Amino acid sequence: MEDTIKRIVVKVGTNVLTNKDNRIQGPILRELVRQIAVLYERDIQVILVSSGSAIAGIEILGDTKIKDKSQRRQVYSSVGQPRIMRRYYTLFQDFGMRCGQVLATKRDFDPGKYRENMINCYEGLLSEGVIPIANEDDTVSLTTSMFSDNDELASLIAELLDADRLIILSDTDGLFTGHPDDEDSVKINVVTTDQKVEHYVQSSDKKEGEGRGGMASKLKVAKGTARKNIPTYIANGKKHNVIVDIIDHKQIGTKFIL
Ligand code: GLU
Repeated sequence: MEDTIKRIVVKVGTNVLTNKDNRIQGPILRELVRQIAVLYERDIQVILVSSGSAIAGIEILGDTKIKDKSQRRQVYSSVGQPRIMRRYYTLFQDFGMRCGQVLATKRDFDPGKYRENMINCYEGLLSEGVIPIANEDDTVSLTTSMFSDNDELASLIAELLDADRLIILSDTDGLFTGHPDDEDSVKINVVTTDQKVEHYVQSSDKKEGEGRGGMASKLKVAKGTARKNIPTYIANGKKHNVIVDIIDHKQIGTKFIL
């Protein structure tokens, strides 16, 4: 019998939020929020880890004079983070809900006061029925305090808050035995942490645009999270109802289990 699901972490990356012109897609954001509202009605707590600050900053500023890559990323994120939050805020309001922002750097997860503060903040938000929306604090997180990507951040949050599931939304349907577009490759439905599947990824990995991560990183994070006994999914965030379908135990995406 499946266990009851009370708390989940959902991670959505830049590739899911944007189209080919690198613009954030309103209908995708709305569909995400709609699903979170459905789960909220069922008393399932959702923590949303959303990328998109850099791309939202580019939407506003376009090209800049800034030559240094890190500084440019800081500036784009600083301008873009409030823009993406405003969009989420308005959408949640349409569904009669509220959301709050929690930004973090990797250092915040080290044992100690920052970590405790973060737990307190999340638990406070969740107890008030506010949906926490997390992102890396890209304005200050550089080099050592940087996550490898938001997949890692989502995994750390899932562990921090003892989540029942982690759902990593990507722009492919899950882990395939080859490139997802190849006719011969098939989706793997379930992966156990001792199963060797890494060799499938090289050919199917594609990494582009503003987001970091990619399938190799998702696979590593998914296995690592499953090892902590948090079942983890990689699924297509552009598909209608994907989060709710996963929670309803439909055969969606690739599930990683211990
Ligand atoms: N934190 C970055 C952003 O909001 C994205 C990092 C990632 O793609 O994993 O744009």
